[in-house]
Amino acid sequence: MPSRRIVLLGPPGAGKGTQAKLIAEKTGLLHLSTGDILRDEVARGTALGRKAKEYMDRGDLVPDGLMIGMVRGRVGGGTGFILDGFPRTVAQAEALGAITPVDRVINIALSRDEVIRRLSARRVCRRCGKIHNILFDPPQLDSRCNACEGELFRRDDDRSDVIENRYDVYTAATSPLVVFYRRKGVLREVDGSRPRAELLSEILAFLDG
Ligand code: AMP
Repeated sequence: MPSRRIVLLGPPGAGKGTQAKLIAEKTGLLHLSTGDILRDEVARGTALGRKAKEYMDRGDLVPDGLMIGMVRGRVGGGTGFILDGFPRTVAQAEALGAITPVDRVINIALSRDEVIRRLSARRVCRRCGKIHNILFDPPQLDSRCNACEGELFRRDDDRSDVIENRYDVYTAATSPLVVFYRRKGVLREVDGSRPRAELLSEILAFLDG
């Protein structure tokens, strides 16, 4: 596959992180998850992490200026990437377009009810970052990762009140990006309720085309 600059869109819990990791493994493209980068900044107690935490805890968006600054230095190098969780506003998409062209955008669609069901059951490995779901992908060992046996944890923002706000924020601020990228002719919409492997094949075929 030629080097691609890819954006994954979709509500929280649609499978962006899972698919981005699988695509990165298959293609060698750089996977950039702004949520993961922010959680690392929070864990390290950096100035950015301290500013971002209050927004993240509520399920609100971190201000555009902070996000654009964070992404700018990581995507400008002319090599391919998969952005997962960025852009999340039209202002972020415009800023990204000024930094680098985007070749392919995939919107992973999922209903509000399914988002709530999935995020309530999501557990993440503290060691390797693998995403599990205790409903459809239960750990074989209690609270341990199926890949590396690291400890599984529930994200602070995967609590029911915060989940609902995150979906509403997605609808208001991020879903207009579907139209934004459709107009540019780079968008493919996929059904996030399909099995993970089928979804991956569909996405890889689109990226290869
Ligand atoms: P995620 O892991 O992608 O669900 O992101 C977790 C949280 O990080 C979000 O609920 C936001 O508070 C924040 N965040 C991640 N990416 C962005 C972004 N592009 N713009 C604003 N806030 C973001």
